[in-house]
Amino acid sequence: MAANKYVYLFSEGDASMKNLLGGKGANLAEMIGLGMPVPQGFTVTTEACNRYYDDGKKIDSKIEQEIFAGMAQLEKISGKKFGDVKNPLLVSVRSGSRASMPGMMDTILNLGLNDQVVEGFAALTGNPRFAYDSYRRFIQMYSDVVMDVSKKQFEHVIDAMKDEKGIKLDSDFTAEDFKEMVVRFKAYFKEQKGFDFPNDPKDQLIESVTAVFRSWDNPRANVYRRMHNIPYSWGTAVNVQEMVFGNMGDDCGTGVAFSRNPSTGENKLYGEYLINAQGEDVVAGIRTPEQIATLEKVMPAVYKQFADTAKKLENHYKDMQDMEFTIERGKLYMLQTRNGKRTAAAALKVACDLVDEKLITKEEAVAMVDPGTLDALLHPQFEGKALKAAAPIGAGLPASPGAACGKVVFNAEDAVAWHEKGETVILTRLETSPEDIEGMDAAAGILTVRGGMTSHAAVVARGMGRCCVAGCGEITIDEKGKKFTLGGKTIKEGDYISLDGSTGNIYAEKLPTVEAQIGGDFGTLMGWADSVRQLKIRTNADTPRDSKKAVEFGAEGIGLCRTEHMFFESDRIRDMREMILSTTEE
Ligand code: ADP
Ligand code: MG
Repeated sequence: MAANKYVYLFSEGDASMKNLLGGKGANLAEMIGLGMPVPQGFTVTTEACNRYYDDGKKIDSKIEQEIFAGMAQLEKISGKKFGDVKNPLLVSVRSGSRASMPGMMDTILNLGLNDQVVEGFAALTGNPRFAYDSYRRFIQMYSDVVMDVSKKQFEHVIDAMKDEKGIKLDSDFTAEDFKEMVVRFKAYFKEQKGFDFPNDPKDQLIESVTAVFRSWDNPRANVYRRMHNIPYSWGTAVNVQEMVFGNMGDDCGTGVAFSRNPSTGENKLYGEYLINAQGEDVVAGIRTPEQIATLEKVMPAVYKQFADTAKKLENHYKDMQDMEFTIERGKLYMLQTRNGKRTAAAALKVACDLVDEKLITKEEAVAMVDPGTLDALLHPQFEGKALKAAAPIGAGLPASPGAACGKVVFNAEDAVAWHEKGETVILTRLETSPEDIEGMDAAAGILTVRGGMTSHAAVVARGMGRCCVAGCGEITIDEKGKKFTLGGKTIKEGDYISLDGSTGNIYAEKLPTVEAQIGGDFGTLMGWADSVRQLKIRTNADTPRDSKKAVEFGAEGIGLCRTEHMFFESDRIRDMREMILSTTEE
């Protein structure tokens, strides 16, 4: 690879170049290599991003030249000209780092329009309404991403216009309305920034690339990276791609789809689309999208081509794909693909199915499933619908996974007594200590106000496989008065609460739980893991009960036994304390 090459055409890249081109750029290049319908473009590399920071947050003139050289190539390929009034080339500017950072950095669409170009674009498409709608969208996105004037701020301009014209929906605006909206948007922009909205597409392009680089260092991105262990030094790439339009009429549309169901793993296309819409409309929730299956009736040929493409991509990447697409005048374009995120249950089913379909080996299937997510499957969970409808009153640390719902009690003795009466209880304490063990065991879940992921409550609960939310400092607790307040709600002894030990959420209501579902796929995958693993598994157990559970889960011996835990048993702890405090040897 030539040193210091900062811009790659999509046709020069492939999936193996993810570190340099980012995930989005590398996969767009790969799809082009596979002969799939992808709008052409180029990628400004992650190394250019690092250079930007090394150079004191400036884009070097050499990089700028390469970007314009890339643009010249794109003009040749497309037969259009950037900034030209008669036959304008419009592009999107899209961020894309090595690891997917969803929603971290926003996309700019329709770049290349200005007051003159929009006229030509209207004439060329024969659709002034579409041209001015595209332009006003560009002004909003550019202001938002590059100029720090949020998209939302423009909404009041739109709302005012709707009131004046007596219309309710964006779709009721005419070409003239959008033209006027552009004027008002620009006036609002000037009011906010004190200077005119930039009219030169070349400036717009460089400023947009700079904005993507800058966003790599914004607080949101930094928090996300820290949470997901993504090194700062990776940087982000920027993709510049010819626009295709899903909003030119009823033979156009845009959508997102998974090649399999990401919740269940079922081998069936799963997703949504909107007719006559552009990019962000699907997720923005302005209109309700249609299920992907209905596209088969509306545009059978496009649907078939998309379904075939999804299958081809699965076969190529040997994994479930998460894809974005747009249809322009009945023609399909792929705009993104990546391995799809999925629930633990879906991960198991997809891995097992891919082995059945002979796409991957058993070893690959084992390596593909994230062991951390499987833990959740070994514990009860909230019933999906009820969970969606519920709003938490607060949250603590997700100290021990699983879901629990029960009546609140405030000390270990009550937990044991209520449990013996047949009640399901949640033990709520300022913090727990060794005397509380029996009460913790009698409880379906444990909630504490103080303490971290390694506090007594957290460690013991994990050992017991009991759901625990720890360290919810916002709780004001009155253990003697047997009540606590959180999120403006007062919960008294005997009131129902629900805890989600996997998220830390606390609900002031009775949420139904479903038992752990260690279905066939789980057993199958663990069997494959057993047949290839070299490690032996021994358990950390201090009591006969723990040992029994561990054997059930396949442990081959005891690896760690902490004798002090034996002294915690309720019939022993008093004797131990008396011994420690005794004044005589006997
Ligand atoms: P994110 O990383 O947030 O998903 P993307 O870069 O994928 O952002 O862009 C979001 C959406 O914008 C895409 O799903 C697509 O609908 C639209 N989009 C991006 N580039 C183009 C393009 N060249 N032509 C048409 N639509 C585009
Ligand atoms: Mg995307």
